[in-house]
Amino acid sequence: MSLLQISDPSKTNDELKKFVVGIDLGTTNSLVATYYEDCDIFDDRLKVYKDNSSGLIPSVVSIDQSGNIMVGVEAVNNLDKTNTTYISSIKRIMGLSYQDMKSIEFINDLKIINGKNNLPYIDVYNNRYSAVEISSKILSHLKKIAESQENKSLDGAVITVPAYFNDVQRQATKNAAKLSGINVLRLLNEPTAAALAYGLESEETGSFIVYDFGGGTFDVSVLSLEKGLFKVLSTDGDTNLGGDDIDNILSYWLIDNFLFLKNYKFSKVKEIAKSLKESISSINDDECSSITIDNHDIVLPKKIFHELINPILDRTFNIVKNAIFESKLAPADIKNIILVGGSTRIKCIKELLTNKFKCNVLNDIDPDKVVAHGAAIQASLLSGNNKENILLLDVLPLSLGIETYGGLAEKIITRNTPIPIKLRKTFTTFKDGQSKLLINVVQGERELVEDCNSLGEFILKDIPSMVAGGPRIDVDFQIDADGILSVSATETTTGNSSFIEIKPSYGLTEADITRMINESNNSAEVDVQLRKLNESIVEGKRVIYALEQALKSDGKELLSKDEFNIITDKLQSLKLSITSEDSVLIEKNINELEKESEFYVERRMNNSIKSFIAGKGIDDIL
Ligand code: ADP
Ligand code: MG
Repeated sequence: MSLLQISDPSKTNDELKKFVVGIDLGTTNSLVATYYEDCDIFDDRLKVYKDNSSGLIPSVVSIDQSGNIMVGVEAVNNLDKTNTTYISSIKRIMGLSYQDMKSIEFINDLKIINGKNNLPYIDVYNNRYSAVEISSKILSHLKKIAESQENKSLDGAVITVPAYFNDVQRQATKNAAKLSGINVLRLLNEPTAAALAYGLESEETGSFIVYDFGGGTFDVSVLSLEKGLFKVLSTDGDTNLGGDDIDNILSYWLIDNFLFLKNYKFSKVKEIAKSLKESISSINDDECSSITIDNHDIVLPKKIFHELINPILDRTFNIVKNAIFESKLAPADIKNIILVGGSTRIKCIKELLTNKFKCNVLNDIDPDKVVAHGAAIQASLLSGNNKENILLLDVLPLSLGIETYGGLAEKIITRNTPIPIKLRKTFTTFKDGQSKLLINVVQGERELVEDCNSLGEFILKDIPSMVAGGPRIDVDFQIDADGILSVSATETTTGNSSFIEIKPSYGLTEADITRMINESNNSAEVDVQLRKLNESIVEGKRVIYALEQALKSDGKELLSKDEFNIITDKLQSLKLSITSEDSVLIEKNINELEKESEFYVERRMNNSIKSFIAGKGIDDIL
């Protein structure tokens, strides 16, 4: 039954509108905002909800011994309190297993234990919290702030995630939202959100870059925008490159040049460095940033600051170059670079990017708010509050496929394909009468399954008994707009089908993704040879299997003793060569065996025709 929506005439337009927000769930800070597209004054269209006096809400949670939980500004105030545990940067471990966690930098004085399903749990005074639970506390806090300021309950939210977040990290984010009672309209990639914020404001079309330089991470995405259609062409980044690294370098310089600082804790020096850094963006090139600490004047000339940070900025520019290369665009095709993240407030970044990439650098929208801004616009679009409709396309960070016989990875959707997408490939069985097929879903660029990441597996059962190669099995890969993958396999003659939504117990970090891509580039030649070898082994085994089955059933009957021996000798040579790791030799043996047994295949065919027509009248046959 369908219901017609009948509007209540006593309600104003505003009351009928859904209350939806965009949430930038950041590593260091989060924002929650709503978008009024009808507002005439552009600057007033975005309303950012504040926690105390700031819209930048620290993504931190504090838990005391009695189990009292504080989030945001109030949690920050508990930083130095005793008997209180302080949890920050939880986003870094979202969707990771206990083992994965060890390979990333998650600097916290926390007690982490290996819990259920191999997930890391934070032990706080004998209570255990998963990353999803901690993240849900932050989301609940954002929800509460927005609801209490509007005096309305929230209908839905668009939440942003890094473009490189894999399936598990996205699912974890969705679960956190579910736990906090937020209806997720969509997960949106952070750079896409930034693009959306600018796309609606200006009439720009063409290809551009989102340069997101935050506190701990650096992300680049190359996008194209045409008549309201956004497409992420490629992404790259470094999970351990951000404002924090600048603070470290500056701290070492300060300790070397202002000796009294040697007696200070490093964290205190870092605080001084951070404050000098943040104030330097508002002064002229020939001036100094200064601060007085315990009656000592600390002075940082802007020229020296630039010299110190140059190597870090160069690292970001190299990553940009690589992302452009991956997008397959020529550098001249890029029109704009959008600046996102607090660290892009460093003034020379704009100038350097303009000179290096010969394009226009956009920083009109506050780099702290631009992601939340885009998410709020998208939320408004999805809720139907806005008449325009924008289709957003994102890109797959690593290729996806399935394992085929011989441990080979057959790609179904290749890396950097825009999503959402649905693709199908057809497969068949390897053995006669094979009734089951194991579908192992793999992620990665390499040719062999053992070098890829297995995301999950399922079995397609009840395949009707047919000769090898007979059944047609359609494998469908579908990735929705949130980047979540579902795989189904259907045997087409019977329509039997099996299905899996990928929710593996652990995921990949961006560093893993970069490593896997690099490994695949470095080993492309070796992989091709290995693939060739594996294919020849699979083909060899198929020939051996088929011939052995035939010899068993009618070899003695149709072949003389000599003929039988020649074929079994050749069969033996092929069997031996299969272990040789020499694809040329295997192929040679396959060819020889096929040649030697040609006459036998012919006899078998004649024989089966004979037995088919035996005892039948001509009318039965034609
Ligand atoms: P994240 O995306 O990691 O949550 P943000 O985008 O909020 O991080 O950026 C935080 C970083 O921005 C910090 O390292 C902070 O020192 C830096 N930052 C903020 N303002 C300035 C400024 N004026 N100059 C240089 N860096 C700044
Ligand atoms: Mg950010």
